[in-house]
Amino acid sequence: MKFEIKVEKVKESRISQFDPKNIGFGKLFTDHMFVADYKNGEWADLRIVPYGPFDLSPATSAIHYGQSIFEGMKAFANLNNDHEITLFRPEENAKRLNRSAVRMAMPEIPEALFLQALNELLQLDRAWVPRTEGGALYVRPYTFATDDFIGVKPSDNYRFAIFCCPVGPYYNKALRVKVEEDFSRAAPGGVGFTKCAGNYGAALYPTALAQKEGYDQILWTDPIEHKFVEETGTTNFFAVFENEIVTPSLTHTLLAGITRESVIIGLKHLGYTVTERPLSVQELIDRSSEIKELFITGTAATLINLDGFGFRGTYYNVYDESRNQASQSVKKFLDDLKVCRVSDPFNWVEIL
Ligand code: PMP
Repeated sequence: MKFEIKVEKVKESRISQFDPKNIGFGKLFTDHMFVADYKNGEWADLRIVPYGPFDLSPATSAIHYGQSIFEGMKAFANLNNDHEITLFRPEENAKRLNRSAVRMAMPEIPEALFLQALNELLQLDRAWVPRTEGGALYVRPYTFATDDFIGVKPSDNYRFAIFCCPVGPYYNKALRVKVEEDFSRAAPGGVGFTKCAGNYGAALYPTALAQKEGYDQILWTDPIEHKFVEETGTTNFFAVFENEIVTPSLTHTLLAGITRESVIIGLKHLGYTVTERPLSVQELIDRSSEIKELFITGTAATLINLDGFGFRGTYYNVYDESRNQASQSVKKFLDDLKVCRVSDPFNWVEIL
């Protein structure tokens, strides 16, 4: 089924503000955005319009009661064709947004609508996709409650929108993480497996405290015993031991990263053994001499090595560039796939 999407183009593009040599992250937005409104039980008013502010009531329900979910994905330049861009597993983002929607009592977006809207928006703003190494167009689909109403109940009205911004690398160094034992990111039965806005707001204070201590990010542990490693604020976690690569198994308290799954499949494709299982902080400490590398994965960050981790006042440094073979091979494999430098054995890359 094809959806009817109205298009209002900008009178004048702002693309001259975009300097491919100095991209930054998340500050400059492309010319257009997609917007749809949910009313009377269906998604309506499908439109692509110039990027610009929304007019919202002070009582907008999302602001007060937190029905607000989002996704993050990237479009890349096809290195084989100057006119083409690529998307990496976009249907996985559509599915995850819908998993978040169900848990937050919000309406799902038909997957075909999500993909068509994304496709049409990117066709229009394709000139904004950076063609520089490590550059990409970050794409932000999100849904939030728009009822103009005070009272805790699921909203009747919602807005779904997608906007984009050209981005460069998110981090450019090996990171120091703090193993967190006092605060929790998520609780059993809670919303940790969703990308609801509140998960991120709640992590800001503990992260700021860790940053004051000289860390870059928090390595969250399980909320019951604080014994098992889970993920960082926006990435999943991998530990490379001599004969085994371990990543924490998926639970209700961590996000099923699309990069995580791609890295697992990619590593196996490259001949590595990967195990998804509970991984305790004690195991990381006991086997620290066996650790070849620790790394984290996510759409924005891609794949970044950890310098080390801090636990109860001791810093365990693991970073040794000469031992980064597994992470660098899988990073290169996925980076090459995304820009069509190598053929795609998994049918993950969509060319627009
Ligand atoms: N964990 C959390 C909490 C995140 O916000 C993200 C970013 N979406 C990830 C992990 C990594 O997920 P993905 O690889 O799909 O970007």
